[in-house]
Amino acid sequence: MKDAVGREINYLRISVTDRCNFRCLYCMPEKGVEPKSHSDILRFEEMVEFVRAVAPLGITRIRVTGGEPLVRKGIPSFIRELRNINGIRDISITTNGSLLAPIAADLKDAGLDRVNISLDTLKPERFRKITRCGRLSDVLRGIESALETGLVPVKLNCVMVRGFNDDEIGDFIELTRSYPIYIRFIELMPLGEKGWSQGKYISAEEIKSSIKERLMPTGAPAGAGPAVYYRVPGAVGAVGFITPISRHFCDACNRVRLTADGKLKPCLESDLEIDIKKALREKKGEEELRSLFREAIMKKPVCHHMMPEEKSAHRRHMWQIGG
Ligand code: SAM
Ligand code: SF4
Repeated sequence: MKDAVGREINYLRISVTDRCNFRCLYCMPEKGVEPKSHSDILRFEEMVEFVRAVAPLGITRIRVTGGEPLVRKGIPSFIRELRNINGIRDISITTNGSLLAPIAADLKDAGLDRVNISLDTLKPERFRKITRCGRLSDVLRGIESALETGLVPVKLNCVMVRGFNDDEIGDFIELTRSYPIYIRFIELMPLGEKGWSQGKYISAEEIKSSIKERLMPTGAPAGAGPAVYYRVPGAVGAVGFITPISRHFCDACNRVRLTADGKLKPCLESDLEIDIKKALREKKGEEELRSLFREAIMKKPVCHHMMPEEKSAHRRHMWQIGG
């Protein structure tokens, strides 16, 4: 279905939980967050009911995210249910990767196509520092298991933070020489811990110009989002740049987001939300769900307001939206 300015909306990101086993500095407060009660969070059946209702409007791609989606029990059967919905052609997960290895095969078997794994540093101590509690080795095992079980293409999301991990750009590029992975450098957005990102943003252009190796433009992998990809000559993997701030991609935005507490968000940054949980709990039926979905799409903002000179009034954090 097209929105009011003609963008084709075919991609739904579902946040299945706002809990997480990490506390990344740029995302969550150190003490964690007040967990929502179970009744505030959509049940998997409710999420499936919603997807079944809106798939006929042209939703073909689903991404499961969080908080950390793999802390919620029952993800493989949820994926299996999504897979059975007519019209859904591509299902992926964004995860911190730490809990992936033991269930990668189950996820593949359930019909998951691929994973994006977040990894901001290759240094164990630094990893613990940025996640405040994570172990790098768990994530590396998660990446291996994704490659082994065929949850491919494996994309690594790497948020660049000035003065923290910008000295590792070359090490990440080096990984693409021998592993068939797609490293995506993401610009830090002012959406996490209040004030934390100030002065730590690095533009993709600056990251790119610091790369010594020759970069050749290359095709995008399956499920390509807004990243632009390059390859170092001879490398089996590739490197991409995601530029939500320096060159926003709102013109080509094809997505809407469903939060774990049942709100449909037409834009990552805007506070505009449509209450889906209420309609689901009041058993309003598929027509009403479709009508709320159409309303959200028609109200989709033309552009976000995260540019450095703008004051975004957003209330939600990334762990509540899912990236
Ligand atoms: N827990 C999962 C993970 O870390 O992949 C899924 C949810 S997490 C909110 C989704 C993505 O958002 C991660 O790749 C994370 O690095 C990114 N993210 C979180 N806060 C961000 C920020 N302020 N700017 C840019 N990316 C951010
Ligand atoms: Fe958790 Fe992902 Fe946020 Fe890190 S970025 S705290 S792993 S939700």
